[in-house]
Amino acid sequence: PASAPVLLQVDGVGKSFGGVRANADVSFGLHAGELLALIGPNGAGKSTLFNMINGQLRPDTGSIIFDGTDITGRSPRAIWRLGIGRTFQVAQPFQSMTTIENVQTALLSRDRRLFNIVSRVSDYAREEALALLDLVQLADQADRPCSAMAYGDIKRLELAVALAHRPRLLLMDEPTAGMAPRERIDLMALTRDLVQRLGTAVLFTEHSMDVVFGYADRIIVLARGHIIADDTPAAIRENQLVAQVYLGS
Ligand code: ADP
Ligand code: MG
Repeated sequence: PASAPVLLQVDGVGKSFGGVRANADVSFGLHAGELLALIGPNGAGKSTLFNMINGQLRPDTGSIIFDGTDITGRSPRAIWRLGIGRTFQVAQPFQSMTTIENVQTALLSRDRRLFNIVSRVSDYAREEALALLDLVQLADQADRPCSAMAYGDIKRLELAVALAHRPRLLLMDEPTAGMAPRERIDLMALTRDLVQRLGTAVLFTEHSMDVVFGYADRIIVLARGHIIADDTPAAIRENQLVAQVYLGS
C-alpha cells in the first residue's frame, strides 16, 4: 500500500543496447506489500527493467535501492539473497521430479552447504514444502510427477518455488503468458491473496488490461523506455496520453 514504507527505490535508471535506449531515466518507488503493474507495448523496456532489478543486467546510469541497500549492479545471487525473488516467463520445473520435490529443491537451495549433507531431496523439509504447496492450492498434487501437470498448475508451482526463500519482493515478468483467460484471472487472484497474506510486494507485467485493472494497486506505464504515467488504475483509465500511446484509442 502507498502508506507503507518504500521497499524498492529506482532512481534515474537508464540502459542502452547499441543505439536502442531500452530504459531512459526511469524512477519510481515501490512500497512494502504493494501489487504494482508495469505495462507498455512490446519493446517498451519492461523486461530490461526487471533484469536490472534482479541483477541480470547492469544499468548504465542511475541507482536501485532495496530496503536501504544499494543493489545497483550486484549479482543475481546476491540480490536473491537480499529478498528479491522472480518467476520466469516460461516456467521450467524439473520434469523428472514430483511437484513437492521441486519445492523441496528450492528450499534446499537457500543454503548451499546443505546440498552436501542432504542425500535425498524428498527427505528434506517436507512439511514446509507442503505448506507452500497449500498456499498455491497444489497440496493435493504434491506427489504427482511434474511431467503430468497442467500448464496453469505448473505456473502455480513456480510461484511456490519463488516463495520458498520468503522474498519481500517478487518480480513476475508476464506471469500469465500462454494461459487461458480463466487461468489468468485465477493466477492473479491467487497472487493478490498471497500479497495480502504474506505481505510480499509484487512487481508484474501483464498484457491483459482486464487483469491489470482488476488486480493492480498501482500501474506504471512505460513507452520507448520512458515512464509516461504512474498512477492508480482508475486514473490510468482516464489518462489521455496513455490512451494515445498505449491503448491506441
Ligand atoms: P519489453 O519487455 O517491454 O517488451 P524489452 O525490455 O525486452 O521490452 O526491450 C526493450 C528494447 O530493448 C527493445 O527495443 C529490445 O529490442 C531491446 N533489447 C532488449 N534486450 C536486448 C539485448 N539483450 N540486446 C539488444 N537489444 C535488446
Ligand atoms: Mg518483456
